[in-house]
Amino acid sequence: MLDKAPNGKVSDLLNALDKALSAGEVEHAVDLFQTDCYWRDLVTFTWNIKTMEGKEQVRDMLTARLADTKPSNWKIADGEDASEADGIIESWIQFETGVARGFGHMRLKDGRIWTLLTTMSELKGHEEPVGFDRPMGAKHGAERNRKTWKEEREAEAAELGYLRQPYCVIVGGGQGGIALAARLRQLNVPTIIVEKNERPGDSWRKRYKSLCLHDPVWYDHLPYLPFPRNWPVFSPKDKIGDWLEMYTKVMELNYWGSSECKKASYDEKSSEWTVIVQRHGKEVVLKPKQLVLATGMSAKPNMPKFEGMDIFEGDQHHSSQHPGPDKYKNKKAVVIGSNNSAHDICAALWEAGADVTMVQRSTTHVVKSDSLMELGLAALYSVQSGMTTSKADLIFASLPYKILHEFQIPVYNAIRERDADYYKRLEKAGFLLDYGDDDSGLFMKYLRRGSGYYIDVGASELIANGSIKLKSGVDVEKITEHSVILSDGTELPADLVVYATGYGSMNGWAADLISREVADKVGKVWGLGSNTTKDPGPWEGEQRNMWKPTQQDGLWFHGGNLHQSRHYSQFLSLQLKARMEGIPTPVYGLQQVHHLS
Ligand SMILES: Cc1cc2nc3c(=O)[nH]c(=O)nc-3n(C[C@H](O)[C@H](O)[C@H](O)COP(=O)(O)OP(=O)(O)OC[C@H]3O[C@@H](n4cnc5c(N)ncnc54)[C@H](O)[C@@H]3O)c2cc1C
Repeated sequence: MLDKAPNGKVSDLLNALDKALSAGEVEHAVDLFQTDCYWRDLVTFTWNIKTMEGKEQVRDMLTARLADTKPSNWKIADGEDASEADGIIESWIQFETGVARGFGHMRLKDGRIWTLLTTMSELKGHEEPVGFDRPMGAKHGAERNRKTWKEEREAEAAELGYLRQPYCVIVGGGQGGIALAARLRQLNVPTIIVEKNERPGDSWRKRYKSLCLHDPVWYDHLPYLPFPRNWPVFSPKDKIGDWLEMYTKVMELNYWGSSECKKASYDEKSSEWTVIVQRHGKEVVLKPKQLVLATGMSAKPNMPKFEGMDIFEGDQHHSSQHPGPDKYKNKKAVVIGSNNSAHDICAALWEAGADVTMVQRSTTHVVKSDSLMELGLAALYSVQSGMTTSKADLIFASLPYKILHEFQIPVYNAIRERDADYYKRLEKAGFLLDYGDDDSGLFMKYLRRGSGYYIDVGASELIANGSIKLKSGVDVEKITEHSVILSDGTELPADLVVYATGYGSMNGWAADLISREVADKVGKVWGLGSNTTKDPGPWEGEQRNMWKPTQQDGLWFHGGNLHQSRHYSQFLSLQLKARMEGIPTPVYGLQQVHHLS
C-alpha cells in the first residue's frame, strides 16, 4: 500500500482527535499522543499559558477542561499543507472551541502527536474590526451637530478616567504597555496607560546614549504595524522611542504621560482596584477591574550595597541611570558587571576617551551579533526566512520549554566552533566565559534568568586587545573616596563607578505599588524553574507569572523583549476581553508560588 502524503496523515489524525474530543472520550484522545508528548496551550483550553508534558498531564487537563471547552472542527489550517522531514510531520492547524477560534501547530512522530500548540486567535462575537470589517471612518449622509473623529477622540480622552472608568489600567507605558493597549483598543476594552515619563518612548530615550537594539528588526515588530522595509536592522534607541510615540498616537491609545502610579489596592468584594495616580501633579483615583504591571522586567535596578559608597567623591550610578560618556573624557571609569549594559557602557566610555576597567565577578556568555543573527535567528527572523512574523512567533512558541535547550545546544556548539579563535582571544585577556549551564546559550539564559550574556557588537574586541581593562574573578570589597578596592586587594582609582548589576524580579513592583503581601502572594516573576543558575526549581514549564493569571485576582504582569511583548499581548488581551464580556474563564493549573523573588 502506498504511504499517505503528509496532508492525509495529519487529516486522519485530526479527524480522530475531533471525533474523540467531540464524544468526550478522553482516553481515545490521549491514545493519539506519543508517550513523550507536549501540549502547549495559550488560553484556548486552560484559560492559562500552560504546557502539559506527557500523556498523564494531557489526560488530567482534558478530564478537567474538555466538557467546558467544547472543541470542534479540527483541520489543517486553510491554505496550508503539512510537510515531512526527518521522520517528523508538521502542520499548521485550526480548530474552534465553544467561545473562540483557534490556530495552532502540530508535529507527528510515528503517527502520533509529539508536540501540539493550541492558541486563541479570537473570541466568537468579539472579533477585531480589521480587514473588511474595519471602521468606515467617514460617516456618509447628513447629521446635525455631528462630531468629527478628532472631536470624538478628544471627548474620549477627556472623559476616560474622570467621567467613566477604564476596565483596565496598565502601569508602565514602555513597549510592553503600548503593545497590550493597542490590542485592547482593537477589542474595545477601555484602557488607560499610566506612565511616569513625559512621552511614549522615553524609557528607551533615557537609556545610555550609545544603545541600539540588540535584536534585529525582524524580531522587533509591534502588533498591527510592522516597521517599514527601510528600517535599520538594529534600531537606535531614540529612533525606537520615536516609533513608539508615533505608534501610540496612530493606534489611538489613551496614554497618560507624566502620570505616576503611587499606590494600588484591591477590594475583593467589589473585585475592583483603587489606583492612585499623580497626573501632572494632581491626584486622580482610577477604579479599574484589571490592573496590569508593565513596569519592565529590566527596570527595577539591582543596586548593590558596598561599604564606602556613601563617601565616594566621584560620580556613581546604576547602569539604568548612566547618562552616557560625554563628561568622562580622560577620567577613570570602573564598571562593575560584565553583561550587556556593562559592555555597551564600557565601549562608549572608551570611545569618548575615558580610561575604563570592567570588573567581572563571574562568567558571562558572549556571542557575536552576526553569528547570533546567522545561526541563531535567521531560520525564523530574517529577511531570508520568507516567513511572516506571526508564524515565526508561533513556531518558536511550539517548541516546548522542557526540550527547547536540546534545539539550542547544537546552535551554540556551531557558534563556538565558528568563533573558536575569538573565544580564545577573550579567554587570553582573562575574560571568564560560559555558554549557559548546559551549553544551551543565549535564549535559554534569557528565558531562565533574563541575564548573564552579552551580544557582542564591538566591545569584546576592546577587551581582547586590552583597550578596555579587565579585572575578572573578583568582587568589590569596598569603595573609598576615590577608588574601588577589589577582593584580591587591587585598588582601582575611579572618577566614575557604574553599577551594571542588573535588575530585580517584577513582583518587586507589586511590593512597591500594592503591598509586600501581594508581592509574596504572587511570588517570583520570570524564569522556568530549570534549576540552573538564578532559575531555581521546581520545574514550572512556563515563564513564572508572565501574561497569565496570578495568585492575585485582577493582577497581571506583561513585558519582555519586543518579540514577547508582541506575541503574548495577544493572549493577555483576549484573557482580559473575555473577563470584561463575562465569558467564564476557569483557569486550569494556576501558577503555584515556590519563590518570593
Ligand atoms: C540596556 C537594555 C537593552 C535592551 N535591548 C533590547 C533589545 O535589543 N531588544 C529587545 O527586544 N529588548 C531589549 N531589552 C529588553 C526589553 O525589551 C526592554 O527592557 C524594554 O524596554 C522592555 O519594555 P517594557 O515595556 O516591558 O518595560 P520598560 O521599557 O522598562 O517600561 C516600563 C515603564 O514603566 C514605567 N513605570 C515604572 N513604574 C511606574 C509607575 N509607578 N507609574 C508609572 N509608570 C511607571 C517606567 O517609567 C517605564 O517607562 C533591553 C533592555 C535593556 C535594559
